[in-house]
Amino acid sequence: MAVQTRRSTPRRALDAALPRFIAAVGKDWVLVSEADREGYLDPYAVGDGRNHLPGAAVAPASVEEVQAVLRIANELKIPVWPISRGKNFGYGSASPVKAGTVMLDLTRMNRILELDEKLAYCVVEPGVGFYDLWDAIQREKMKLWLSPPGNSWGSVLGNALEHGNANTPYGDHAFNLCGLEVVLANGDRVRTGMGAMDGAPSFHLYKHAFGPNWDQLFTQSNFGVVTRAGMWLMPEPEGTLTLNMEVPKPEDIEWVVDTIGPLRTSGVLRQVNSVRGWMRAATLNGQRSEWWTGKGAMPDSVIAAIMKKYNVGWWNVNLRLYGLPEVNEAHAKLIQERFSAHTDQKFQITRWRQGEPYAGSGRGEPGTTSMQTLNWAGGRGSHVAFSPNLPLNGKLAREQMERTRARMTEFGFDYYGSMFMWERSITVVGSIYFDRDDEEGVVRLKAMFAALIKDARQHGYGEYRTHIDFMDEVAATFDFNNHALMRMNQALKATLDPNGIIAPGKQGIWPRGSERAR
Ligand code: ADP
Repeated sequence: MAVQTRRSTPRRALDAALPRFIAAVGKDWVLVSEADREGYLDPYAVGDGRNHLPGAAVAPASVEEVQAVLRIANELKIPVWPISRGKNFGYGSASPVKAGTVMLDLTRMNRILELDEKLAYCVVEPGVGFYDLWDAIQREKMKLWLSPPGNSWGSVLGNALEHGNANTPYGDHAFNLCGLEVVLANGDRVRTGMGAMDGAPSFHLYKHAFGPNWDQLFTQSNFGVVTRAGMWLMPEPEGTLTLNMEVPKPEDIEWVVDTIGPLRTSGVLRQVNSVRGWMRAATLNGQRSEWWTGKGAMPDSVIAAIMKKYNVGWWNVNLRLYGLPEVNEAHAKLIQERFSAHTDQKFQITRWRQGEPYAGSGRGEPGTTSMQTLNWAGGRGSHVAFSPNLPLNGKLAREQMERTRARMTEFGFDYYGSMFMWERSITVVGSIYFDRDDEEGVVRLKAMFAALIKDARQHGYGEYRTHIDFMDEVAATFDFNNHALMRMNQALKATLDPNGIIAPGKQGIWPRGSERAR
C-alpha cells in the first residue's frame, strides 16, 4: 500500500476564516482557545488522542448558519467535521480524523420539530439527545417508545447516522430514518425523498419517493451535513414478554444462534436481540484488578469464579416479545420448545401489559449504566469495539468467537462479545477495555486491532462501524474489484464536495489529492 498524504489545514486559511465564521454565528460560538479545542478530544482515545486535536470549533444555531459556515469553509478550503452531540464513544467521540479540522458542532440545533403520536414519528435537529426526546414524550404523555443505545447521552440523529442500534424492534436506527434535510459543501440545502417536493406532507412518512433514495447515502458518510431528520418511533405495544436464560459454555453459542436465528428470520422475534458474554456483569460491578492481576488474559478459573459470583452464564440470552399478550404467550411457548431441544433450563419470564407500571416493560428509558463498564481496566479507562458482521449461522458464530478469543488471548486481552442478531446476519460487538495511559498496552491494542481486521477479512467479514483511528484499515478490506466501491465514493465526493471540506477521512473517504493511493 502506498504512502498516504493528508493535507493539513493551512494556518493562514483558518486565520482568514475565523472573522467570517464569527460574522456568521456570533463571537461566542467560534471557539479557538486551547481549552476549547481540547474539549473535543476523545475521553476514550486510543492513547492521548492529541493527533485528532481540532483547529477550532464553530457552533451554528440554525440551518441558515450551517449554510453560511459551509460556504465560507468551501471558499477557503477549510475542512470541517460535523458532530451532533459528539458522544460517539468508543469510535472517536467528538474528534475528527485529521488534526486541525474545524469542528462543526451542531449541539445548539436541538429543536424537536415534530412529534406525532398517531403516525409514530418525530422530526429532530442534530442536537436533540435521547433524554430530550424522552422528556418531550413524557411531557406530552404520548404512547411512543424509544430505542436508546446503552449510552443514551448522544443524539438521536448522530446515532442513527452512525448505524447505531439497540435491543428493540426499532433497534436498526438508520433504517428508521425517513426524510433528511442536508446542507451540501457548497451551502446548498437539499431535502430527500418526498421532502424534495416543497411542502410535501409525507416528507417523513414514506421512504422511497421518486428516484434514488438518498437517506442512507448520508449515513456513515461525508457527503453532506444533516440538519434535520425524520425518525420513526414505536407505538406502545399492548404488552411485552421478556425471556432470560444463562447458558454455561462458550461453545453453546452455536446452538443458541441456530435456535434464535430462524425465529428472527421468520419475524417471531422482531427485536434486534443480543446475546452477551459473561464479562458484562463483572464490568458493571467492579474492576478487573479485583479478579486478576497476573499476566495475560484471565484464565478460565477466574472466569468461572466471576460467573458464579454474579450468577451469569458464559452467554446470557435476553429476548423480548412485543405486541398482543396472547400472541406473546404463543411465541414464548414456541421459543421455550425450541430451546428445550438443547437445554433442560426454563426461561425466567417477565410479563408486562399496557396500563401496568412500566418497570420491566422494556419501554426504552434512556440510561448511562453501560458507562460503568469503562472503569474495568483501571486508570483512565477506555474502550474500542471490534464489530464484524457475519451470516446468522451458529457454526460461523462459534468459529468467529473462538478465533477472536484466541487472537485476543495471544495479545493479552480478555474476550468480550455481544452477538446482535439481525434477520439474516449477526454483528458481533467485541468490546475491548484498556487503560489509555498504559503506553505498552495501547501499542499492544493497536497491533491486536490490526490483526483482528485482517483475520475478519480473511473470512469475508467486514466491520459495521469503526473508530476514527482505524477507518482507513477497515475501508481497505472492502476490496471487491480493486476497491471499486471506494472509487465510486470518491467520485461522488469529488462531485458533491470538490474541495473536500466535509469530514475528510471519514470511513476512509478522502478528498482527491489526499486520498490513500492504492
Ligand atoms: P452522538 O452524539 O449522537 O453519539 P456524534 O455527534 O458523535 O453522535 O456523531 C457521530 C458521527 O456521526 C460524527 O463523528 C460524524 O462523523 C457523524 N455525524 C454526526 N452528526 C452528523 C450530521 N449532522 N451530519 C453529518 N454527519 C454527522
